[in-house]
Amino acid sequence: MAAQHKRDYYEVLGLDRSAAQEQIKQAYRQLAMQWHPDRNSAADATDRFKEIAEAYAVLSDETKRRAYDTTGHAGVSERWSTEDIFRDFDFGDFFGGRMGDVWSVFGDMFPGRTARSKVSPQGADLRYDLHLTLDDAAKGGERVIKLTRSDICKTCGGNGAKPGTKPVSCSECHGTGEKQQVRADKTMRVVTLTTCTRCNGRGLFIESPCVTCKGSGLQFLPHSIKVQIPAGVEHGMLLRLAGQGEAGPQGAPPGDLLVRIYIQPHATLKRDGDDLYAVMPISLPDAALGTKVTVPCLEDEKVIVTVPPGTQNGTMLRARGKGMPRLHGRGKGDLYVVVEVKTPTDLTSRQRELLREFKMEASKKAAATGS
Ligand SMILES: [Zn+2]
Ligand SMILES: [Zn+2]
Repeated sequence: MAAQHKRDYYEVLGLDRSAAQEQIKQAYRQLAMQWHPDRNSAADATDRFKEIAEAYAVLSDETKRRAYDTTGHAGVSERWSTEDIFRDFDFGDFFGGRMGDVWSVFGDMFPGRTARSKVSPQGADLRYDLHLTLDDAAKGGERVIKLTRSDICKTCGGNGAKPGTKPVSCSECHGTGEKQQVRADKTMRVVTLTTCTRCNGRGLFIESPCVTCKGSGLQFLPHSIKVQIPAGVEHGMLLRLAGQGEAGPQGAPPGDLLVRIYIQPHATLKRDGDDLYAVMPISLPDAALGTKVTVPCLEDEKVIVTVPPGTQNGTMLRARGKGMPRLHGRGKGDLYVVVEVKTPTDLTSRQRELLREFKMEASKKAAATGS
């Protein structure tokens, strides 16, 4: 997961937007415990942990939470650096509470931040985790996901000014967004450029801010977004929905929405690419004499597989075209049925007798053929 794909903070903590501070804290403690890289060996544990800590750091602080609730990720990263976000943050038992250690794990969460002043920035990319069953993944089709993200304010059209007014050129920096500070002594003249604090580097100043967005130009709104799931989609895939991320500040283009696919393990089928694997127990007589077995497959389909006479334990029988739809190409993969021969137990006296007879017959046969 790249650091710039941001998920909704409430969703990260599994909370709804009205959650009380106590619930936020509780969710954080539980999830942080679960995903701490020292305790969780999953490949994405560190990323998940960072995400959880970041969400908590923002939502546990009322000012930052309000900024997030009104303008989303853009509003937070515009006002605070990673360092600001974690400055008063209580990590509790994690990392022994040492900021230096936290730093080595987190790095900068807003990597675009320092370079953004000149280049017209784009809205943040968002991420949404979509959980599917294996059946869903095989079928594909349309899904509607609900998420809340920042959007261009509908009242002011994004410029942040009260309707009927306009942002004006900032008088402090003459519209450049930067201020020059000149320090001179006998030998040197040092010019430093700093961001204008009056207009926050925008170069524009809003005299009467829009009431809806308080001058930010952005509004945090719930959305229902349609996602096309390709049949045969794989676990961990990212589907990119261009322009469905956060709105860009000051009319910049929006970011993208990245839908990450999580496929839940199936009760009886294992997947390997386009192929599926199922284990099928059969009795010793069936393995020796041959039989037909019915294997439950995707979407309640029953696949009939012929077990030939003399089938050994562990044999893989292939049912062509009964696997997953091929994501890149036509048709479907195969279903492999792994035969598990069950040695009979709890024999009746008659069965025992028959098996002894069977054994005797085998010895006789061996003697006759001289092997
Ligand atoms: Zn507005
Ligand atoms: Zn200014």
